[in-house]
Amino acid sequence: MADKHYSFFDGVVKNFEKAAPYTGLTPGLLQQIKECNSILALKFPVRLNDDGDVEVIEAYRVQHSNHRMPTKGGIRYSMDVNQDEVMALASLMTYKCAVIGVPFGGAKGGVKIDAKKYTPAQLERITRRYTAELVRKNFIGPGIDVPAPDYGTGPREMAWIMDTYMTLKHGELDGAGCVTGKPVEQNGIVGRADATGRGVFYGLREAMSYEEDMKKYGLTTGTKGKTMVIQGMGNVGSYTGLISIAEGGIKVIGVAEYEGSIHDPNGIDIAALLEFRKITGSIVGFPGTTTLENRTAAMELDCDILVPAALENQINIENAGRIKAKIIAEAANGPVTPEAEEILLKRGCLIIPDMYINAGGVTVSYFEWLKNLSHSTFGHLEKRFTSSRYNNLVDLILQMTGKEMTPAQREFLTSGADELDLVRSGLEESMITAYKGIRDTWQADSNIKDMRTAAFVYAIKKIGADYLSMGIWP
Ligand code: NAD
Repeated sequence: MADKHYSFFDGVVKNFEKAAPYTGLTPGLLQQIKECNSILALKFPVRLNDDGDVEVIEAYRVQHSNHRMPTKGGIRYSMDVNQDEVMALASLMTYKCAVIGVPFGGAKGGVKIDAKKYTPAQLERITRRYTAELVRKNFIGPGIDVPAPDYGTGPREMAWIMDTYMTLKHGELDGAGCVTGKPVEQNGIVGRADATGRGVFYGLREAMSYEEDMKKYGLTTGTKGKTMVIQGMGNVGSYTGLISIAEGGIKVIGVAEYEGSIHDPNGIDIAALLEFRKITGSIVGFPGTTTLENRTAAMELDCDILVPAALENQINIENAGRIKAKIIAEAANGPVTPEAEEILLKRGCLIIPDMYINAGGVTVSYFEWLKNLSHSTFGHLEKRFTSSRYNNLVDLILQMTGKEMTPAQREFLTSGADELDLVRSGLEESMITAYKGIRDTWQADSNIKDMRTAAFVYAIKKIGADYLSMGIWP
């Protein structure tokens, strides 16, 4: 439920305007940064069955900012898709790319369908026709606008988009870079599927490493033993849970999904829960858990970290007063409305904003795009070279010291980095560097009262610097 006073895009603009006075930029430049540059609204026909009538599909692609090219952002399949939502999501992409340091402008796409109602063959027709429309209007291409998965879409749809694009643009050398989030065997990159959830974990781990910051929220440093509640067990929510447990020692005590919400103070095994849901179609009834009264109730549990990973406006003026989490990590885009945020900040909650905490997906999408343009695999050229160098070094040290080493120790010290190692290393570096940028911005100005405003200031200043250095044409 959205709050009465703001649409989703209005909410993003309100947050932008809260930050604008601390950027030192002129009103005209701020307006240019804030507005959506190009909006494509489509109605196209699809014949879903050989003997059936046509269905007219409503869809959008919005390029919020062309200050860097290509523009980048996911495609969402949902019945809630509308122009305002796509504009809001596209603008968040611009700020996200600036915060995380990838050289793209922001964009977003949306197709107003309930993906669950269609067969895979019908979804393929819709996806291919949508792509053909984007090609016709010049709204897709490796140097123009590069979509990715979002709510309701995944690698399968991205492969259809790439194939359609490459069929229509036959012979375009860099064509595979027209979309990211593709299956690994279809010009994708390892580590993209879990990238957003992994980024959420890296961002949380970074935020929770500062003692003086954590003290303000009544928390000790470190993720180990901290409690977490997750809303949404899709791509982002499930990987956030799996990685937070496995690598951070976090205990996930509550999960909220479309069909209901569950609680176990001793911690829920997310891998087993996902298996259970695959078989039963629901999280409700998962052994060892208590079923709560409704689908949002888990979000109101007493916990250290709440991860909304479903959709926007989930924490709003109606339920904000009942949220007890000390930290909210916005894995979804726009899950906290501006009015809810005021209530939560007053209560002393740390909100780690979407434009930072869920930027892992676009970061690894950037690596995938680079891979497509280079027509090579990361690590391919240097892996063996590095390994043999380290082996020679180890041999020399063992010879000089007269000591021995187990095969496992040797493997640990001498293996060269492969694509997954490099993707994870690059993602971790991006999340840590961006966090420092936001934190330094926040600490440098005592007028900035919350992390979202700090992230906006950090992003807007970077985009403003781009405009100022390149000039305005003509
Ligand atoms: P997804 O479709 O894989 O999963 C979303 C999940 O949320 C589904 O399991 C769905 O059943 C659940 N859900 C929907 N409504 C709900 C409700 N009212 N209560 C509880 N659960 C509900 O989508 P995703 O890709 O994981 O995206 C989730 C959010 O993360 C979106 O806001 C998206 O924009 C954002 N995001 C995604 C990526 C990415 O790489 N996929 C990157 C950045 C941000």
